[in-house]
Amino acid sequence: MTCLVCGAPSGAPAYRHDGAMSISSTARPIAIPTVVYVCTVCAHVQTPPLDDIGGYYDTAYNVHLESDDADDLYDVRDGVRVYRAQHQANVALEKLALPTGAAVLDYGCGKGMTLRALLAARPDLAGHVFDVSDVYRPAWDAIVPRERQAAYAAPESWHDRFDAVLSFFALEHVAEPRAFLAAIRRLLRPGGILHLTVPNVRRNVGDFVVVDHVNHFMPSSLRLLFASAGFDDVQIDEESHDAAYVVDARRGPDDAVDADPGADVARYVDEARGFAAFWASASEAVAAFERERAAGRRSAIYGSGFYGVFIASRMADRAPLAYFLDRNPHQQAKTIFDRPVLAPDRLEDDVDVVYVGLNPARAREIAAGVAPLHTRPRDLFYL
Ligand SMILES: [Zn+2]
Repeated sequence: MTCLVCGAPSGAPAYRHDGAMSISSTARPIAIPTVVYVCTVCAHVQTPPLDDIGGYYDTAYNVHLESDDADDLYDVRDGVRVYRAQHQANVALEKLALPTGAAVLDYGCGKGMTLRALLAARPDLAGHVFDVSDVYRPAWDAIVPRERQAAYAAPESWHDRFDAVLSFFALEHVAEPRAFLAAIRRLLRPGGILHLTVPNVRRNVGDFVVVDHVNHFMPSSLRLLFASAGFDDVQIDEESHDAAYVVDARRGPDDAVDADPGADVARYVDEARGFAAFWASASEAVAAFERERAAGRRSAIYGSGFYGVFIASRMADRAPLAYFLDRNPHQQAKTIFDRPVLAPDRLEDDVDVVYVGLNPARAREIAAGVAPLHTRPRDLFYL
């Protein structure tokens, strides 16, 4: 195993969970171990690709096909829900300052919900979509004409064409990240901009153990990757999205640029090893709380995404678990481990124990604002 960014030998894993259950990016339990490596040369964090990753994405990874408006909840601001696609479109428009009529491609677009939001704000733009599957065609047809759609491979006529290529949450999945960026670079006109988001494990530690995310970037590995793929003027923004890096980079000259991971590598390596230590103790933290505080008491999990599923997967006995709670109405139609996902105000008085399954960086702050959790004294668990 070698680093997918710099090519250095990977050495021993920084984290390994051999239990039967790992968690995917769609918060599905998968019966394989989790193994994570930290590169000492560029601080890149990586997970070996799942077998048959192509087939997995083509058939098993149909995110949000159930309804037109289904999307991840990004935030709740003043009681108003903000969904991820809208937030991404807002940030892209602000950063790119696109001229009238600019040619824009959403590369790895899924249903194209971000492009849809973008075109709603800027109908003058020439929007295009591409993904490695054609299951999204019906959704694409509502957004752009067929000649601006491509599935499986981008046509040659699209080379050197785009003022901007957008890529939202794709780079973390690819086993050949440099080839992925090179393919995008070919589609940009000289000087065109790639606007890309990818999970930021520094802001959302859960990403470290998401088993189908091959790449978990640190700023040093992200910078090195973009430079070595022929991009310059690389801007890495860790603030505009609360759990992702937002990267804007320009198609640079054709001759290879000297790429360097920068002076901060040792600090990022230490930080990544800290994430490994966090997850090594998290399973035991769930088990200890369950044993010492929750045994036999009716319980619920607040949060039905990655962290909620992680907690449920680590319980020794799920019999007392009554349900999950989630404020995202699109989650409320689901069942996880045969438990329903309910709106938070459905929490019953006889539930004494609530495991808070949210990003630890924001869990306490978010839970404090969820009134139904605090209608009576309860034991709350935090990761
Ligand atoms: Zn490396």
